Amino acid sequence: MANAVTRGGTPWTPLYVDAINPKNCIGCGRCYKVCPRDVLTLVDRGDDDMDDDWDDEDAKALMSVKDAQDCIGCGACGRTCPKSCFTFVAA
Ligand code: SF4
Ligand code: SF4
Repeated sequence: MANAVTRGGTPWTPLYVDAINPKNCIGCGRCYKVCPRDVLTLVDRGDDDMDDDWDDEDAKALMSVKDAQDCIGCGACGRTCPKSCFTFVAA
């Protein structure tokens, strides 16, 4: 994998989206709004995710990684998430 550089030529390491913690996600959509690529999508929460603690106040949708291969590793999603759902990996 090629190393990334800033415009000024300084090397930096992109951190690509790896996973979104479904237990923490509240389906707020903030990450979706800031993502510059077509990586994320909001999906319905399946009944399987509604454990004993689930009630009507909990989110019925959660964010999911749709196309991890389109991620540019900008990290904007993780910075805007209020629930620290994201984990990232270097290429
Ligand atoms: S790191 Fe950037 S490109 Fe990748 S999913 Fe997050 S906001 Fe989108
Ligand atoms: S910003 Fe965080 S809590 Fe909100 S939808 Fe995205 S992953 Fe879920």
